Amino acid sequence: PDDDELGLGVRIFPSLPPLYRGHPDLHLRAGIMRASRLADEHQPNAEKAFFVADLSQVYRQHQRWVTCLPEIQPFYAVKCNPDPYVIRLLAALGTGFDCASNGEISQVLDVGSIDPSRIIFANPCKAVSFVRNAAKMGVEMMTFDNADELYKIARAHANAKLVVRILTDDSKSLCRFGVKFGAPLVAVPGLLAKARELGLDVVGVSFHVGSGCYDPSVYNDAIMRARAVFDMGKDAGYSFTLLDVGGGFEDALFEQAATVLTQAIDQYFPDRQHLKIIAEPGRFYVSKAFKLAANIIARRAPLTEPSDMESSEASSDQPGVMYYINDGVYGAFNCILFDHQVIHPYVLSLNGSFHVPSSEPQKLSSVWGPTCDSIDCVSPKTMLPSALRVGDWLGFENMGAYTVCAASQFNGFELSNVIYTMGGVGAAEVQQLLAGFAASGYGL
Ligand code: PLP
Repeated sequence: PDDDELGLGVRIFPSLPPLYRGHPDLHLRAGIMRASRLADEHQPNAEKAFFVADLSQVYRQHQRWVTCLPEIQPFYAVKCNPDPYVIRLLAALGTGFDCASNGEISQVLDVGSIDPSRIIFANPCKAVSFVRNAAKMGVEMMTFDNADELYKIARAHANAKLVVRILTDDSKSLCRFGVKFGAPLVAVPGLLAKARELGLDVVGVSFHVGSGCYDPSVYNDAIMRARAVFDMGKDAGYSFTLLDVGGGFEDALFEQAATVLTQAIDQYFPDRQHLKIIAEPGRFYVSKAFKLAANIIARRAPLTEPSDMESSEASSDQPGVMYYINDGVYGAFNCILFDHQVIHPYVLSLNGSFHVPSSEPQKLSSVWGPTCDSIDCVSPKTMLPSALRVGDWLGFENMGAYTVCAASQFNGFELSNVIYTMGGVGAAEVQQLLAGFAASGYGL
């Protein structure tokens, strides 16, 4: 890739890294070439792993959202990836934000243009000081699912607009939340009576079907339950105006989920002139937008025989070679432990070349992170070219959700940097949106 393809890197926001043009794959190659130059200069950490974030991918996901769910306003779940560019782009696109803590609320409000009414404090169990802080910051919308939370809110934020989070079927999701959050329907009338007694304003209902939902039919059941809770609200003297359908949207199943949701909303909320519908998508917006490049820093034979990996054949079901890369489960790949992801590497460079013939002989291999802990395994079994060597690079797709946000620096390994590109289709729109945003004095 040359400078023309990549752009020189503009600094729309002085406080953020430069923003490049061009397809993310060009930046993966450019990053690898740069690493090789730094290695030639004997620079420390020359081969450091890095992300490439394609902001046009975030933009395109938003277009998909607006096309399929025009009635539902997304409140991006900041926890999923609190990346400063992602937040600025979504702010410019007009989404709301789902925050779970004081830190996330500050991060969103510090951008400058985001009115606190565009935030939902969607954590049903909050420290009282956080509730008080939300009041101070002007954030009114917040969820609850228990009576103690109501007492706290009555004390610390009496004007809050409350949203009762209900329990729904989360059995069809990678990450289930029902064991921790969500009021069962039988408990809701009691909670609403308590809210009324405390003089609190309950404005609506929220649920979360679990993150990484692989059976979108569960949204139908969840909407049916939400309808029942709207009716309970009426019995308690409330007139709800907000329905929050949560997150859980998987990229490959998004259109299907949108159809189920739209039909269920039509069925259970046919009269909805006064109803505002929001959602809290996280993964959907960012998963595909980030790729990771990691360097093979070491290679060895498995602990058992054979010891000479060059000459021996691996037994058919055990990896014959172990590769060690410079990001692992204590870093970006924490998604293996926390988000139940299964990781599939692909080869970015082989013996220093970006040309990787599909005919290249493959070998069953395992891939490990850089720390001294044996839990730090990125892929226990994967087919990789036998010719792969120390210094080559592996690539990982779909690394934008629940990765960098929960990465640690255990063992002294730094977090991987992010290279930003405005990307391919949608790049012009991204540049225009961000430049317009910055020109208004926001996000600088
Ligand atoms: N809303 C809440 C309250 C959550 O806890 C989460 C994920 O943890 C989300 C939204 C985002 O979910 P997803 O990334 O599956 O869309």
